[in-house]
Formats: sequence, C-alpha cells, structure tokens
Amino acid sequence: MHAVASISQSALNHNLSVVKRCAPHARIVAMVKANAYGHHLDCIAPLIDNADLLGVSELSEAVKLRQKTNTPILLLSGVYSQSELQQAASLNCQIVVHQVSQITLINESKYPSNVWIKINTGMNRLGLSAEEYQQCLIQFEANPLVNIVCVMSHFACADEPAHPLNAHQLTQFEQLTKSANKRSMANSAAILSNIALLDFVRPGIMLYGVSPFVDNDHNLKPVMQLSAPILSIKMLQAGQSVGYGATWTASKKTTLATVGIGYGDGYPRHAQADTPVLINNVLCPLVGRVSMDLITVDISDINANVGDKAILWGDDKLSVNTVAKCSNTISYELLSSISSRVSFVSCP
Ligand SMILES: *Cc1c(COP(=O)(O)O)cnc(C)c1O
Repeated sequence: MHAVASISQSALNHNLSVVKRCAPHARIVAMVKANAYGHHLDCIAPLIDNADLLGVSELSEAVKLRQKTNTPILLLSGVYSQSELQQAASLNCQIVVHQVSQITLINESKYPSNVWIKINTGMNRLGLSAEEYQQCLIQFEANPLVNIVCVMSHFACADEPAHPLNAHQLTQFEQLTKSANKRSMANSAAILSNIALLDFVRPGIMLYGVSPFVDNDHNLKPVMQLSAPILSIKMLQAGQSVGYGATWTASKKTTLATVGIGYGDGYPRHAQADTPVLINNVLCPLVGRVSMDLITVDISDINANVGDKAILWGDDKLSVNTVAKCSNTISYELLSSISSRVSFVSCP
C-alpha cells in the first residue's frame, strides 16, 4: 500500500500526435531531461521510439538514455573537456555549443562532431552573442570535422504570448540566422501558439500532457496519474485539530481520510488547505499540513473506505496545474520532484 505513478502510453502517443498536428513540417526533439520530466525513461517508449531526437540536459542523462535506444540524442549543456567530448561522440550525441570555450574544445578535437549552435537572444542564461556566433561560424565552417546540424535559441516568455520579449527574441534570431541551414526555437508554449516552428521543435511539458497555459488544456492528455491509498479514516468532533502544528481545526463533525503520500514522495509540502484530492470521483479538500509520509483529507461529503485510491493529480477532474497553483509552483517542478519511493507503472 503506497504511492504509485502510472504512466499512460496512449496519452504519450496522443500528445506526440498533437505536436505533429501543430508542427507538421518540423522535426521533433522530444525533451526527456530530468528523467523525462519525472516520468522515468523506462516508461516513455512512445517518445523514445517516435521522436527524431531526444533532448537531455547533461551527459549522465545521455549515458542512461543510450542504454535504451539508438535514436540521436541532443546534449543541451554541451561538453566541458576533451574526455566529455569523446564520450558524447561515442554515445552519438549531437552537442550544443553555447559558450566560447566549447568552440575551442571542438576545434582542438580529432573526432568528428555534430553540433547545434545556441545563440542568446534575450533569455540571458546560455548562448553565444551575435559576434561570438559569427566567429563560431567562421571557425566551424573551416573545420571539416564539424557538422553544424542546427542553430537554436530559447524563449524566456513563450507562455505569455503577448510579452514583448517574444517578438524581440524572434526578430533577433531571424536576423542572425538568415543563412543558417536549419533552425530551432519553439518549446511547448511556442508550438501551441504557432510561433517560430522552423525546422526543429523542442516540446517538453506538452508531451507529458500538461499545458503551459493554465487556462487552456489544448486537448492534451495527462500522462502521469499519481495516486495513493487511504490508510486510515477518523471521525473528528468540532474543535479537534489535525496534523503538525495543529493548523486546521474542525468546525463541525468531520470524516477525515489519512492518505499514504507526503513530501517524501514529492507531494508539495506547501500545498495549501483546500487543495483538491480526487477520491471515488469526488474532489475533496486537503486539510492540515502535508507531512513526510501522509496527508489528511476531509471526506465528510463522500463514501470512502480504507484502501480506496486517492488521486493527487493526472485525471480529467484534477490536473497537476491545479495542484501546482495551490502550492505556489509550476507543474514542471511537481512532476520532476517525484521521489524514488514512488512506484512507476507503465499502463496502456
Ligand atoms: C526544457 C527545454 C525545452 C522544453 O520546454 P517545455 O516548456 O517543457 O516545452 C525546450 N528547449 C530547451 C532548450 C529546454 O531546455
């Protein structure tokens, strides 16, 4: 009796088909960094089998992914030494070059490399400046061992389509990359807004069935359903409190379910009172503090028994975006924070 994350294979296929419908002419880099946004590399075969490339953040992730597939891998952080460069090449990774020392590293290598050049257009985390990019092009074009696959950049505000930085970044990018062979800019929010689809799109969160727009689900299907069993049911009298700090007190006679999940499993400790939990198809309010192994839910209005399943998120009635909002965070953080105590099950 413990928390389970079931991962829906049909939902993964459906969400991939949404990407294809939105961007029919682009190739797809499925972003599977952070253990596939917390969904586990073992459970995401539809992405691994059907994407053109798989995007990871760091080399350790590429190593794990390569044990499962021969699909090309895009390494977003790139490499920082000759040995990393050699390892990336042996794993058949395409590597992102986003800062000047990486240009030098690649030019000093005796091995062929497939590179993506990342330009900074306004996110200001990673990426070459306009001048560095021009220098990089001159050097790589003179190097027969280097194949420039694509030039990329990343939006800072794609989930706010009206934000002026979007147009600014796209204009910058288009001006700088007029002569580029292949270009890539779009994350999920840009794909769903039909912005900057270009040659390669890089969907992440939408593949997992979560819309980057809290007010529009774009017909995506949730991939992860997180659930846990009711471990105990208690009757509280008015005036009795619940949990650490006794922060919640019953104002009337209350039936309380104690559910076997907590922040030690990745359920957010900051979920506020009234965060919905779906039990027997009814949304019931969380009460009291989230503890490491347990939460408490007011089930006065429903019939439920010990052993019944409580769904924390991943149902048509309860999206991870709702829980994120109630916890003052974003779905990305909740999904990628599920702990190793939770069992992952691949389901149809
Ligand atoms: C994570 C990531 C994406 C995917 O972003 P989503 O918002 O999850 O679609 C795309 N591009 C880069 C460079 C990323 O790091």
